[in-house]
Amino acid sequence: MTFKNAYLAEVMETVIKRNPAEPEFHQAVKEVLESLEPVVERHPEFVKTGIIDRMVEPERVIYFRVPWVDDSGKVQVNRGFRVQFNSAIGPYKGGLRFHPSVYAGIIKFLGFEQVFKNSLTGLPIGGGKGGSDFDPKGKSDQEVMRFCQSFMTELQRHIGADTDVPAGDIGVGGREIGYMYGQYKRLRNEFTGVLTGKGLTYGGSLVRTEATGYGLCYFTEEMMNAAGKSFKGSTVVISGSGNVAIYATEKAYQLGAKVVALSDSSGYIYDPEGIKLDTVKQIKEVERKRIKEYLNYHPNAEYFEGCGGIWSIKCDIALPCATQNELDEEAAKALVANGCFAVAEGANMPSTPEAVEVFLKNGVLFGPAKAANAGGVATSALEMCQNSMRYSWTFEEVDAKLKNIMVDIYKNSAAAAKEYGHEGNFVVGANIAGFMKVAKSMYAHGIAY
Ligand code: NDP
Repeated sequence: MTFKNAYLAEVMETVIKRNPAEPEFHQAVKEVLESLEPVVERHPEFVKTGIIDRMVEPERVIYFRVPWVDDSGKVQVNRGFRVQFNSAIGPYKGGLRFHPSVYAGIIKFLGFEQVFKNSLTGLPIGGGKGGSDFDPKGKSDQEVMRFCQSFMTELQRHIGADTDVPAGDIGVGGREIGYMYGQYKRLRNEFTGVLTGKGLTYGGSLVRTEATGYGLCYFTEEMMNAAGKSFKGSTVVISGSGNVAIYATEKAYQLGAKVVALSDSSGYIYDPEGIKLDTVKQIKEVERKRIKEYLNYHPNAEYFEGCGGIWSIKCDIALPCATQNELDEEAAKALVANGCFAVAEGANMPSTPEAVEVFLKNGVLFGPAKAANAGGVATSALEMCQNSMRYSWTFEEVDAKLKNIMVDIYKNSAAAAKEYGHEGNFVVGANIAGFMKVAKSMYAHGIAY
């Protein structure tokens, strides 16, 4: 254990004991607790009132059975999760992930991170996360619909527009949100903003689809501008080819960069001329096929099996946008050796702790997920706001609000890092800035015996 502070070391030990075999959750908690050392020294009242002991324990964890019938008539059973982590500053808010790797440790890590991220947006949203070990890949539309309906049949008991408002994440896009929203409405007979990421015809917000990727680039541009750099004329490598990766690519191009690589869980494509985004959208959003299909349209590009090698491509800016722990120490060293000067996380916790260490030691500008990918949830909160008003803003209005939020997140993270003696370290800055608002609110609410 690397803690100098005995209290934080004890909190960490309890988390490990109480949540055995959940390494992703331990990793996420450890990173935050390490950042909080200067805070607990300055704020003994948080220690005395057990704020951090309470913050690492979710307010509520719900596990449930999700039975559904596949196209052959066979009954399938998946497991559903919703972790309602912290509601100190607003209703629980956070996505639903459908992926075979989902288990309690993944949902807890994501829910914990969400608490701080949501606080950083400056909007009134608490933190939560959910999902299932269901794999939408290779399933028919009808199967996905039946699964989503069964999932919502149970989840609807636990959520509500003022209680808990889920959204999408890996494996949950517009199609899945639509099926789940339809089932919620059928069962509850109410039309409320209980999910975000909805279609534009039934209460969705403009820019929500683009928000995480666009927001990532707004944050990264702000961070780079402060150091005299920018997207303009830069070469960018982006992992993943899902929602976040696609719209990060779109905005990077709009800001004058060239994106040369994208991936999926099978492998990556390299197109030194610049990835043609329309082709990727067609393959991924319309046909739902594998990224290697890109070569059928652009035979001069190259395809490599496996994901890790993408970080050996020479680039100025790297944006990991696929999944947790996809960028390790070796990959970080390769990026540094190739002259990469900025890394910002579109995915949640994509860089291992060792990789982050390499970036910070080598002066790479590093935007951690909590800050850099908060644009998705921020725009979800804007969707909630529009639903409450029964009104909708234009694309330009939402985009301008998103941009302001991302610039503020950068400024607040940079200021907190400086105030607590870690200037330029946005990991520490984002953790502290996100923590303070939640901690002060919990302190104000007192302790429930
Ligand atoms: P999508 O499901 O749209 O896309 C995920 C992409 O990552 C796909 O290209 C997928 O490839 C790839 N991927 C998934 N799992 C793995 C894996 N184990 N190894 C390698 N590649 C993998 O998800 P999103 O784009 O929405 O989410 C991507 C990341 O961004 C996640 O970490 C998510 O938590 C985070 N995020 C998303 C937000 C949003 O608004 N959507 C908001 C904030 C964060 P394949 O198709 O082969 O599985």
